[in-house]
Amino acid sequence: MTMITRSQLHLVATTPSRRYNSPPFPTPDELNQAILQLHYNFGKMGIVGRIYIASEGINAQLSCSINNLKELREYYGLEPKTYNLSNLPKHLTPEEWHNALSIAKENKDSITLIDMRNHYESEIGYFESSIRPDVDTFRDSVKIMNKICKGKENEEIFMYCTAGAILLSNGFKSVNVLKGGITAYGRFVSSNPSIKSLYKGRNFTFDKRLGEPITNDIVSQCHTCGEPCDTHTNCRNKTCNLLFIQCQECKIHLNRTCGSKFCLTVVNSWDEKFGKPPNGAFDEVKPGGLPCVYDHIHRTRPKLVIERLGGNVANIPVEKVDEILEKISSGKIPGK
Ligand SMILES: [Zn+2]
Ligand SMILES: [Zn+2]
Repeated sequence: MTMITRSQLHLVATTPSRRYNSPPFPTPDELNQAILQLHYNFGKMGIVGRIYIASEGINAQLSCSINNLKELREYYGLEPKTYNLSNLPKHLTPEEWHNALSIAKENKDSITLIDMRNHYESEIGYFESSIRPDVDTFRDSVKIMNKICKGKENEEIFMYCTAGAILLSNGFKSVNVLKGGITAYGRFVSSNPSIKSLYKGRNFTFDKRLGEPITNDIVSQCHTCGEPCDTHTNCRNKTCNLLFIQCQECKIHLNRTCGSKFCLTVVNSWDEKFGKPPNGAFDEVKPGGLPCVYDHIHRTRPKLVIERLGGNVANIPVEKVDEILEKISSGKIPGK
């Protein structure tokens, strides 16, 4: 099956009738309904990925089969200009990409190399001298990309991951993208040991591994203690589910939570009630029926959410923890 491996989509609503209304999901009921619908429809279309959903809308990075792209586009109201797949940039093989960047580096040519991925992806690994816009949504990254490229219509532009077609639609002549993405570049580098990788660190992946090493460089830090670390994890409290970077020591110390008093208390009590999983594993804690801990904007910014060494910035006040624990122990919130 041909997959578009990393289409970052900004979705505005889930039902055709509500499309473009603002906000798309004004009440918790409508939001919950939208989440159920997404699960159902994306499952049916065989779509996988990472999705952020809040009353203001949805931000998603999805892998979608080419066969289902039309259906996805029509149903979810994607902007056609963003996805004009007939207007394609130049796809360089990893070798061509490497050579072009190496030559530019040797000649000290100034080239424009843009990392179009999310901040959590470019935080743990990137190409040397790439510009990494620090943005939350695809729409923002397109705006910044246009700003960075302004006046460079006749120059060579390099970008990795998505959006090359948008620049071409805006009159740029030479837009180069990396064929097969960073995974393919990693394969090229590892099968050519004499070549020095121009990519440093890990490549974020949208599967359980949450990343694969391209080189052994660690370019990021543990969000809790600041030690060099490049391993992402999701907070063990699934109503929080914060995606962040956490070192092994902090993982043990904070019971694989983001460290908020709320998450730590819920997870510790969970282990007390249901027993700690064996062999140092950290299973997921799903206190069903609880609202999501963080709002959308904080949700995408671990550094804003995590106060170093155990802050409490959850939307749910610590005073409510007792009530929640009571529900867990009385079985009102089902356990494992
Ligand atoms: Zn740490
Ligand atoms: Zn948490």
